[in-house]
Amino acid sequence: MATDSTTVLHVEAPATGATIQEVPVADATEVRALAERARRAQVAWAAASFEERGEVFRRARRWLAGNGERMRRTICAETGKTDDDAQLELTVAMQSFGFWAKRAKGYLAEDRFRTFSPMVLGRRVAVRYEPFGLVGVIGPWNYPLVNAFGDCVPALMAGNAVILKPSEVTPLTALLTAEMLADCGLPPGVFTVANGARETGEAVVDVSDYVMFTGSTRTGQAVMERAARTVTPVSLELGGKDAMIVCADADIERAANAAAFSALCNSGQVCISIERIYVEAAVHDRFVARVAEIVRGLRQGAADGPGSVEVGAVTHPPQLEIIRRHVEDALAKGARALTGGGPRPGAGRFFEPTVLVDVDHSMACMTEETFGPTVPIMRVADVDEAIRLANDSPYGLQGSVFTRDRRKGEAIARRMQCGAVCVNDALVNYMVFDAPMGGWKTSGVGSRHGATGIRKYCRTQTILGSGPPLRRDLHHFPYAGWRSRMMAEVVRRIYGR
Ligand code: NAD
Repeated sequence: MATDSTTVLHVEAPATGATIQEVPVADATEVRALAERARRAQVAWAAASFEERGEVFRRARRWLAGNGERMRRTICAETGKTDDDAQLELTVAMQSFGFWAKRAKGYLAEDRFRTFSPMVLGRRVAVRYEPFGLVGVIGPWNYPLVNAFGDCVPALMAGNAVILKPSEVTPLTALLTAEMLADCGLPPGVFTVANGARETGEAVVDVSDYVMFTGSTRTGQAVMERAARTVTPVSLELGGKDAMIVCADADIERAANAAAFSALCNSGQVCISIERIYVEAAVHDRFVARVAEIVRGLRQGAADGPGSVEVGAVTHPPQLEIIRRHVEDALAKGARALTGGGPRPGAGRFFEPTVLVDVDHSMACMTEETFGPTVPIMRVADVDEAIRLANDSPYGLQGSVFTRDRRKGEAIARRMQCGAVCVNDALVNYMVFDAPMGGWKTSGVGSRHGATGIRKYCRTQTILGSGPPLRRDLHHFPYAGWRSRMMAEVVRRIYGR
């Protein structure tokens, strides 16, 4: 763990409490040196073709396939997640490398057309994408490969250099990705890792031409404020309190399985975890009974090989207190824990998978981001009440709705105030790389994935071709009364009809 003003990060294994490794911190001077080196290296990298840049990521995909065990062990060690949660990171990362290697060129192709705007009628226009230069990527600890490093991939494919500032809790995965890219032929200096906590993050904001931030809403606000000093654009992927709505006509077995998985995978430490569930009264008891049964059967512990445990550790120490506070607050206000309810005794930092019922919006577990292995389930009278409560949140990251009626599901989705909604599913839209993923309200600014997920890393430049070879246009100086009146009359006739 790190505090500011330390020169070394003591990386801890959350599942055992042991210190794994010490990692040097990059201070502001070092970050400035990395930035200078990155800017020099970026020139040739931007001049390389998309095919050449894509080849690095195709090699990286093979590297990851060949070094999967090492990457999985590194992720499991510093996050305390299960082998299967770590493998999901590898799978998504490999898919994304191939996706950006293939699709970057099309998304960033120059747009060429002739304009129909009357004063410049017929002129040729080119709109091109120029990489910003140096992108600073600041990431969280919950998905060190997919979130922190994953956002570097389109930035690099666009021709930028990148400095990655991983979470101070999970620096080792980031260092391994740097080794991977070096092995795969990325020119030195184009991608570097600056380890440290807040001060290192601030230094990265100061030197960057564009900042891609993933983390809590509070830190996102600080990043945006700091970036404003240099008018540096930012993209913010922030916290959430994602809601699931279970309609009376839902397939209860599927809904219960999806609820348990999407609330508890990665120990609930997913930005798009299902954090609250609203169930129509007619099926509430049946749904609750099935979810509780599934959750009671889950195994929790340190990663011990694929398939060994379903629920891992709480990665970040302060998170345990937040989870405990939310559960205790709910129980004090009349909720019941059908299973779990507190930290697991013994070695490591674990919180028992906890199903809460009889909850309402007076409780923190229904209104604040918990980011832990809890499943609060609330009975609602009907779908309208469910939608009203789902939207009663400062967050708007994602949502989920379960019904056997596909049209009804989509209609409910359109009424939910968030960046993505899965019908009869949850979480999985993250893997749709061609569709934007971003939050509404305090869940973020901008989006990752799709065309906007790479164009954001570029400045646009519009080039207007020369017009007819006249020595003077009608609108040039000097003005003449007859010409001004004639032009005004033409405009009146065209637009006044
Ligand atoms: P955090 O906000 O505490 O830290 C995120 C990163 O910001 C870390 O690298 C940290 O060192 C750095 N940082 C801290 N202060 C900074 C400052 N003043 N300037 C620059 N950088 C600074 O978040 P976390 O605890 O690491 O991650 C958990 C949060 O991330 C949750 O709220 C979760 O919902 C969110 N998250 C969102 C998404 C998404 O896509 N929307 C994905 C993953 C996680």
